[in-house]
Amino acid sequence: MAMTAFYTRFEDLAFKEMRACTVSPGKEVPADDYGFLEFYCDDNGCNCHRVIIKVLGRGSGDKTWATINYGWEKAEFYQRWAGSGTSLMEANMFSRPVLDPLNPQSPHAEFFLSLFEEMIKDKAYVDRLKRHYEMFRKPKKR
Ligand SMILES: [Zn+2]
Repeated sequence: MAMTAFYTRFEDLAFKEMRACTVSPGKEVPADDYGFLEFYCDDNGCNCHRVIIKVLGRGSGDKTWATINYGWEKAEFYQRWAGSGTSLMEANMFSRPVLDPLNPQSPHAEFFLSLFEEMIKDKAYVDRLKRHYEMFRKPKKR
């Protein structure tokens, strides 16, 4: 399975509906506008119900400030998804935002993780992520 940027298939919508946040001067991270880019799994046979968020700064090019792995379902769902060898405790890792161990982070990754934790308190944002996930996985009309 490959995680692919949402904007590669829905360019206009992806940027219009992407969450961003402005960090003002004097914070622990450089002042900038940060975008929370969404990546979804492109395997139509897979049912992983999650998103990878890559945080990029407008003024810092390709630098990844944080990579966040987030699943919106309950731990039981990911336990079933991952298979019988998975404990509920392990599955619990999927059902909350975590810094992705396989992808780039920065020394400020925890700061962006806590911003994201605030963002997902907004149900409208979580619903939007779910909708993008579904859109991304529908076979493209030809
Ligand atoms: Zn998947």
